[in-house]
Order: sequence, then structure tokens, then C-alpha cells
Amino acid sequence: MPEGDTIHKVAAVMNETLAGETVKHCIVRGRAPRTDANLTVDGVDAHGKHLFVNFDDGRALRSHLGMHGSWHRYPPGAAWRKPRRLAAIELHTDPWEFVCFNAKEVEWLRQGSFRHRDLLAFLGPDVVVEAPPIDRVLKRVRGLLPGDAPAVDVLLDQRVAAGIGNVYKSEVLFIHRVHPATMLESMSDALLGELFEESNRLLRRNLGGGPRVTRDDGAANKWVYGRKGKPCAGCGGPIRMERMGKHLRVTYFCPRCQGSQQGRRHA
Ligand SMILES: [Zn+2]
Repeated sequence: MPEGDTIHKVAAVMNETLAGETVKHCIVRGRAPRTDANLTVDGVDAHGKHLFVNFDDGRALRSHLGMHGSWHRYPPGAAWRKPRRLAAIELHTDPWEFVCFNAKEVEWLRQGSFRHRDLLAFLGPDVVVEAPPIDRVLKRVRGLLPGDAPAVDVLLDQRVAAGIGNVYKSEVLFIHRVHPATMLESMSDALLGELFEESNRLLRRNLGGGPRVTRDDGAANKWVYGRKGKPCAGCGGPIRMERMGKHLRVTYFCPRCQGSQQGRRHA
């Protein structure tokens, strides 16, 4: 599942390969299909979970992978691992083909346009690239979300801070022993600051290659995510999985270690 760190890694690889290069064929499918020839890439960057391919004609191609999207890179002529009809974006250059499958959103923007700027203003500070400016993040948290919002929704809200996905949500809450249903109004500014700083630390740590690692003791890559029923590193009890929050996203936690009733939403 793509999180902010994945998108930043993809953007870095694409930028290294594509900046200054000519895309011979750029094919976009979906709601506004379009094919262009011979576009020069200015650079590729990411903000939160959005990836922008910026062309030197002033346009930017924005994509968001959602839950099921992925970027692939192939040598020209190589067989693709997914069918072409699922390709939302194809970028054909001499050395490589970059293909985005199953994107949730794809759109052309004019760089620096109101739409482009609105989108970046809408997204909170990108916690993958920068240490979170805590004052700004807290202002967004308290201003945008109701007091009874559960902790899972606080961390996933891309308007508050961009880049945190479902894996880090569970991991960060476990590390700080916060029950995922804890209500925002019962969380102090200091605690919220720690959660966003932890997210930043974990996301940055995973910008290199290799599997995503959030755990320090070497016993496994993750503390709770994907470990339903396995023993908790803190207490040995079974890790639980529940669908939680506004979008009912899977959430892993230890009911014992994160079990404080204080401020819990009563479902
Ligand atoms: Zn535990």
C-alpha cells in the first residue's frame, strides 16, 4: 500500500531518470484521456502522497495512487506485469518506460495555477520531507477536526499533515501506546506533536531501499501492522485488527498496551 515514503522514493527515481529527458509518448487514460508526443521533463517531485511530473511547457501531471495504484519501470519492449488497459499513465523515454497502474486520480495542471496552489495549500505540511512545523500542524488538527475524531483519523487526514498512511498510523500509535480510538479532545498538544514527529522519523527512515521497517528491536519489521493474532512485543498478548475511523481502514493495535479507556470513543 503506497504511503508518503513510497511516493517520495518513486519521485526520486523518476526525477533522476527523467529530468531533462524527452518523453516521446505520454499517454494518459481515464476521464480525460490524452496523448502527447515529445515533452521535456523539468523534474518530478512529490507532496504527501501526490506525485507531480513537471514538464517544461508549464504543465504538471499529477497522480495519486490511492489504495491500489503502483508505478512500474520497464526497459522499452519488456513485458508489463499488468494489462495495458489498467495503465493510467504511460511515459515512454528511450531508456525506460514508466507506467502508473490503477491510479486513483490523474490530472493535468498548469504549474503555479490556482488549482495547483490550492491543492498544495489544502494538503498539510509534508511530513516525509520536512520535520513537521508543529504549530501549523496543531492549528490544522484543532481547526479542521471535531473533538470526537478518533486518533486514527487525525493521523490519516492529509489536510493536517501529508504523507502518513495506514501502516504508519498503526505503528506510531503503538509506539506511543495510544489507543487508536482515543478522541482528539483528550489528546494534548504535546502528545500530538510527538505523534507527528514520530511519523516524520519513521517515514524518513524508510526513504532508502529495502522493506519498510518501523521497529527497532530487529525481531520483525513492524510492531503491529499486519500482525493480527501475533504476540505483542510489549506484553506478549495477541495483536488485534479492527476497521476503524471514518473510512473504516484496517487498524492494528495491542488492546493491553494501548488500552487506556481515557477519552475512548464509545462505539
Ligand atoms: Zn501489548
